[in-house]
Amino acid sequence: MMMNLKFNLLTFFLIAFAVTAAFAQEVLKNSDLTITKLDKNLWVVETTDMTTMYIVEGHEKSMLIDTGTKCKKLDEVVKQITQKPLYVVITHAHGDHDGNIRFFDEIYLHAADTVLLDKSYKGKVNFVKDGQVFDLGGRIIEVAHTPAHTPGSIVLIDRKTGNCYSGDAFGSGQVWLQLKPLSPMQTYIESCKKMENLMDNGITKIYCGHYPYVKKAYNKKYITEMRTLAEALVNGNAPKATPHHQKVSIACENPMMTTLGGATIVFDPEHIKK
Ligand SMILES: [Zn+2]
Repeated sequence: MMMNLKFNLLTFFLIAFAVTAAFAQEVLKNSDLTITKLDKNLWVVETTDMTTMYIVEGHEKSMLIDTGTKCKKLDEVVKQITQKPLYVVITHAHGDHDGNIRFFDEIYLHAADTVLLDKSYKGKVNFVKDGQVFDLGGRIIEVAHTPAHTPGSIVLIDRKTGNCYSGDAFGSGQVWLQLKPLSPMQTYIESCKKMENLMDNGITKIYCGHYPYVKKAYNKKYITEMRTLAEALVNGNAPKATPHHQKVSIACENPMMTTLGGATIVFDPEHIKK
């Protein structure tokens, strides 16, 4: 009986590995980026400067999630993967996520991030709302507003596949919070609760906004660690914080960071309770 169980488990893991390996296939590489097929009708675009985009294809339309930074002629690159009419949706208006919107006539983002959007963009800006859906044909992508990293941060969820594309809403191991314009830590706690609720209702995989650092999808444990850590920061009992040495123009002078399990929060010590 024990032998059988072991054998079955081993077989299961071998098959799971083979399926994952078969799907995770590099399909395009140039000096700026690599595109890998993650699953049926799903690709991740990883730029050499560690930004990330996702391409999701339906029967009638496709969606490009974020536009990265270092990618010459991004519109033509995307056409090599999908030729269907394209929705270009920006998870939030930070330069490493909306860097190439100039290649597209029209984009979608949450109105609360308008203040951060590059003013030189000449195309049409469509605002998305919480709960709004994009019908790609046999594939529905839904918007969930999850503010904190930026006021207009959204995640895009696909209830059928259980996938979520999260931008920087929950970071990629490390989330930068309390950037300008400042969102209170409580806003992040509420966004984590909303994500945990989505994960109790069919969402299983979170594909983050800087995939090259992690090379995997996050599960609910990661979000729960993030929320627990944010609550501990507000309650004054978080693990000891250390200075974060990266200089970011929209962050406070001396950002601090603290870690719980696989989750790290970068924050402004002056604004924990505000
Ligand atoms: Zn960001």
